[in-house]
Amino acid sequence: MEIKEIIQNQREFFNTNSTKPVRFRITQLKRLKHILQQNEDLLNDAIYKDFKKSVFDNYSTELGLIYNEIDRAVRKLHKWVKPKRVRTDLANLPGRSYTIADPLGVSLIIGAWNYPYNISLIPVVASMAAGNCVVLKPSELPANASSAMARLINQNFDAKYLVVVEGGIPETTELLNQKFDKILFTGSTKVGKIVYQKAAENLTPVTLELGGKSPVFFTQNANLKIGVKRLVWSKFLNAGQTCIAPDYVLAHSSIKKQFIERLKEEITQSSYSTENGNYVQIINDRNVKRLEQLIDSTKVIIGGEVNKEDRLISPTVMDNVTLEDAVMQEEIFGPILPVIGYDNLQDAIDQVKSLPRPLSVYVYSQSKAEVKQVFNQLSFGTAMVNDSTIHFANSNFGFGGVGESGFGSYHGKTGFDTFSHFKSIIKKPTWFELNIKYHPLTSNKLKLVKWLLKW
Ligand code: NAD
Repeated sequence: MEIKEIIQNQREFFNTNSTKPVRFRITQLKRLKHILQQNEDLLNDAIYKDFKKSVFDNYSTELGLIYNEIDRAVRKLHKWVKPKRVRTDLANLPGRSYTIADPLGVSLIIGAWNYPYNISLIPVVASMAAGNCVVLKPSELPANASSAMARLINQNFDAKYLVVVEGGIPETTELLNQKFDKILFTGSTKVGKIVYQKAAENLTPVTLELGGKSPVFFTQNANLKIGVKRLVWSKFLNAGQTCIAPDYVLAHSSIKKQFIERLKEEITQSSYSTENGNYVQIINDRNVKRLEQLIDSTKVIIGGEVNKEDRLISPTVMDNVTLEDAVMQEEIFGPILPVIGYDNLQDAIDQVKSLPRPLSVYVYSQSKAEVKQVFNQLSFGTAMVNDSTIHFANSNFGFGGVGESGFGSYHGKTGFDTFSHFKSIIKKPTWFELNIKYHPLTSNKLKLVKWLLKW
């Protein structure tokens, strides 16, 4: 089917109001979960073929998170769709004011490759929960995961409600030439700008989930024992190919030596290997080459091995890095951890401030004052104290960036809100009318208007 026709069919279906009843939404969400659960082996095999992601990781960082989002939406949807009463202003009394969540219509979700299922399907769940029709365009790079998802969804859902369109730049461009009522894009800042420009032509609201360099502060008051353990897990998870992975570390000079010793211990203990399922490949040759060029061998203190044939890069730490190094010029998105020393926390904060606003910030410190100093001055999407990355799993708040790392957010109720329009309505009875807005407009009436509009 032609892309244009798919969207036209979805619009017609949306206009029948069929997607609006809560019962319909819940049935479809449960169906999606059922289909995924029934086909976990297929989904595991596909993602393993793409970059050797293990069954454990596929559950803990992909499918499990999607199930969690579906369960939450199913559990809470009745509450989320309830009209919300708000106060009525004096000029509108007696009246009742409220807002109603309304689906936006036909939505487009464009996914990135690094967590192919989770990044594609969590927004799909949000959009379905909000009562929209959905076109999903997953990333083409994990070709097996993308086609497994497409097959499962397209065989089990009517394309006029939910459909996966596979493809790369030409297909995405064709999709972006159509009019949607909402677009959620996850990917690079560069492509995010293209999406935003195309969406502007139709005044389509957009949520951009982009990337960036997420800094990590290890202050003189950090707990190195547990802190480094958590840092190493979150940095090398998915071989660093995580949008909120710690990108670089700012370590206080008084603890830097011990910090690096702990890094060595932890990396050795974690025994990173695709054989034991604790590591993944780099997604493609282009990214292996890109990452290789970011490694300055004169600064490598741990790892640095690049196996081009198997697309593997060992967990790599570079010391004495400066903002001028190649590794600090772009989001790393791979298993390379640069360490920059600092003497004064304020100087380290100023360094981060000189870079684009990050998706996440991590502060490893036992000092409330230090944490406050960082958080009060930096602008970021999400943050953690004494841990990294795992906040993604908390659907009780929104997940999203700011500035160059994107705008808008989703997960849980925030995702439902992102795919809804909140209609504001006032209902007025007919038994009372204050005549002050009608002719003749006297000075006494003006006094009354001035008083009324104060409240
Ligand atoms: P990307 O921008 O290259 O691709 C994302 C999507 O856009 C893909 O589906 C791709 O097919 C499409 N695309 C690529 N070029 C296009 C073009 N010229 N015109 C139209 N569509 C195009 O990003 P990626 O390499 O898949 O993902 C890596 C980036 O995504 C990183 O920057 C990472 O930080 C970010 N990311 C962000 C989040 C988040 O939640 N904020 C999550 C995962 C990844």
